[in-house]
Amino acid sequence: KGLKKYFPVKKGLLGRTVGHVKAVDDVSFHVNEGETLGIVGESGCGKSTTGRMLMRLLEPTEGSVEFNGKELTTLSADEMRKTRRDIQMVFQDPYASLNPRHTIERILSEPLLVHGVKDPKERREKVHRFLEVVGLSAYHARRYPHQFSGGQRQRIGIARALMTNPKLIIADEPVSALDVSIQAQVLNLMQDLQKEFNLTYIFIAHDLGVVRHISDRVGVMYLGKMVEVAESEQLYAKPLHPYTQALLSAVPVPDPEHQKREVLLEGDMPNPANPPTGCTFHTRCPFKMDICGQVVPQLVNLGEGHSVACHLYNEESDNDIKEKEGVI
Ligand code: SF4
Ligand code: MG
Repeated sequence: KGLKKYFPVKKGLLGRTVGHVKAVDDVSFHVNEGETLGIVGESGCGKSTTGRMLMRLLEPTEGSVEFNGKELTTLSADEMRKTRRDIQMVFQDPYASLNPRHTIERILSEPLLVHGVKDPKERREKVHRFLEVVGLSAYHARRYPHQFSGGQRQRIGIARALMTNPKLIIADEPVSALDVSIQAQVLNLMQDLQKEFNLTYIFIAHDLGVVRHISDRVGVMYLGKMVEVAESEQLYAKPLHPYTQALLSAVPVPDPEHQKREVLLEGDMPNPANPPTGCTFHTRCPFKMDICGQVVPQLVNLGEGHSVACHLYNEESDNDIKEKEGVI
């Protein structure tokens, strides 16, 4: 709730703070047990920063993170370490997060050691079991990360996340670095594991195509803000925010009969250190109105959990909506 992460911008020899990059600026959302929430946006939109704040790999500047009724932002380091057993992360580049000098057995044993599994036999058995769970074999335990393909390394990254029997997995672009053919395998594996272990996923991606089939609900972020949240089907069938519409215009449509509204982005992503006033998307929005450069649109629930932050849907600018209805 109300999550913010502001990074100071320093200047000069004394490192005087001259401003802030609002990497995440007042973001609120929830994820239900057992579901997958996709979070989508271009690089620099704050999606990874949001994911890291949820498990306090980064401390929020402001805001609250509630997990199973427990407020995480005020936990002591020791209590937070215990809670991390229930919340694990899968990273984009498994190679960078797997120590090249350690065997897979050691890498997978580490979370167990951290969480107090003292018996080496118990650790080894669990490592072997989870290698099989992710489609590898016990004999892989003696090998080193460089002996695996990208897809296999991501399976190891997933196995490592599963070692502590977590409830929630935050996956930060887990398939972005993989070949398209391998992406589908890893996504299918993640879906199977979700059912088997009753996992809840927050699945971060930079394009809407990847999260389409895995997500129950999807949130779209732009320049540190959540601009639209909806159930998956609803979002793809009836995207409301012009930015979501633009992202969907870039996703290839399997059915050529299906008419898609093309919304093209104008210009580049603005500098996050100096974001546009009002709606931060107004510099690229084909539907911008006078109000857009002046007033920040709030994320408003229009019903059935479909929320959007855009003045086109603001009741007060009813006439503007009617005017634009022919266009959007
Ligand atoms: Fe476009 Fe205005 Fe909506 Fe922002 S608020 S997305 S600029 S129409
Ligand atoms: Mg990222």
